[in-house]
Amino acid sequence: MAESTNRDTPEQAEFRQHCREWLTTNVPALPDFKPVNNGAEVATDEHLAYYIAWQKSAYDAGLVGCDYPSEYGGGGRTRCQSVANQEMLRAETPIFPGIIGLGMAAPTIFFHGSEDLKKRLLPKLLRGDELWCQGFSEPGAGSDLASVQTFAERKADNKWVINGHKVWTSTAQFATWMILLARNDKSDKYNGLTYFVVPIKSELGKSVTVRPLIKITGETGFNEEIFEGLVVDDSYRLDDVGKGWTVAMTTLAHERGAGPLTTPTSGGQGKSDAKEKQPGSDTNEFPLLKLAKNCARNGKPAIDDPVIRDKVMDMMIRQVGIKQNRRLRSVAGLADRQRLTLQDKLLGTEYLQDAAALALEIAGAGGTLSQFDVDAPDGGKWPQAYLSSFGGTIAAGTSEIQRNILGERILGLDKSK
Ligand SMILES: Cc1cc2nc3c(=O)[nH]c(=O)nc-3n(C[C@H](O)[C@H](O)[C@H](O)COP(=O)(O)OP(=O)(O)OC[C@H]3O[C@@H](n4cnc5c(N)ncnc54)[C@H](O)[C@@H]3O)c2cc1C
Repeated sequence: MAESTNRDTPEQAEFRQHCREWLTTNVPALPDFKPVNNGAEVATDEHLAYYIAWQKSAYDAGLVGCDYPSEYGGGGRTRCQSVANQEMLRAETPIFPGIIGLGMAAPTIFFHGSEDLKKRLLPKLLRGDELWCQGFSEPGAGSDLASVQTFAERKADNKWVINGHKVWTSTAQFATWMILLARNDKSDKYNGLTYFVVPIKSELGKSVTVRPLIKITGETGFNEEIFEGLVVDDSYRLDDVGKGWTVAMTTLAHERGAGPLTTPTSGGQGKSDAKEKQPGSDTNEFPLLKLAKNCARNGKPAIDDPVIRDKVMDMMIRQVGIKQNRRLRSVAGLADRQRLTLQDKLLGTEYLQDAAALALEIAGAGGTLSQFDVDAPDGGKWPQAYLSSFGGTIAAGTSEIQRNILGERILGLDKSK
């Protein structure tokens, strides 16, 4: 990764040096299983143990939570998380398993939690001692998130009793805590919401049932949770009663990469190894171009088909466009910081879906072969990529919702309703 370091502040430069030195000897060896690409793909106890160990060791070295104050378990630094992220990606490290905690729960607790909650919860979250999940979506509330019906009833003794049903909850099978958006007032859609951090396992969370849901890919990772009278203390509330919508916006801004705190991110494990395992291959070659050269169509390489060639070129142009769009992140003075991240999410996830669909078209009948078939083009990664791509265009707000937000908030178009 060609990251420019000449714009580093003195603190960032010193910290970058520390990261590089530490990473030189502390990136773990490849695991026995195929490395996963993100925390939501962590599926087994073996995966979990490996990735948790990595998060803990990176945290202990100061590479996770660098910009959080030290009294909350952070590094007490300024704008250093992005430096750590760049260096971890450059060093091709494993991923962090605690993505919901690091990316959503931590900033939300930091901006809206009490001093006591910040001190109790953030150190364990950052270190990966406790994993988190996000309890927003419900069977009747996804895009229209403010329709959540999970009900939090306030009792006289400073307790809340929570009943309801959450769904599509990534990583809940491993999580001990959930960030929860609940309704406390049925008469006011937006101001009748309150935000909590709640235990969903152990003795404290025993009245919550976590059930796995199987994805279209056959993988686990999604769950639903049934709340049957979970009792939590009022101290588990974030911000004021009725301010849940405002707090949820902090979570969503960080989920979309548009929040003020940078999410600790690592990954890229095995990238160079994978390239070395294909001697003679041009590692910089555009994957769809390579595939079209290797797959046959009417007795010739598929790339000789002018329609295929046109489609591959179209995808190459789109990919360059997305990369150029990302470069705009460094341009100062953009009117709305959400714009680039929303655009990036929309363009990136739709690109991946279209690229996978084109790969299957190029592979023809070979595209029906799975990763377990030795004859499958590109190791059978495309059927899986195509099925997985739908999650990308739905999670964190569907493509239609991204377009609505871009249209209404960024372009200033009339509201649809
Ligand atoms: C991979 C993945 C991970 C997820 N992880 C979590 C998680 O950890 N926690 C969590 O709480 N949720 C999670 N979700 C749920 C996700 O937030 C919702 O699926 C998403 O917000 C859409 O909601 P829905 O599924 O209820 O669809 P709906 O909101 O019912 O939408 C159905 C269709 O209608 C369209 N639509 C709806 N409203 C409008 C509108 N106003 N304008 C135009 N079109 C519209 C949508 O775009 C969609 O095509 C995850 C989802 C996925 C796919």
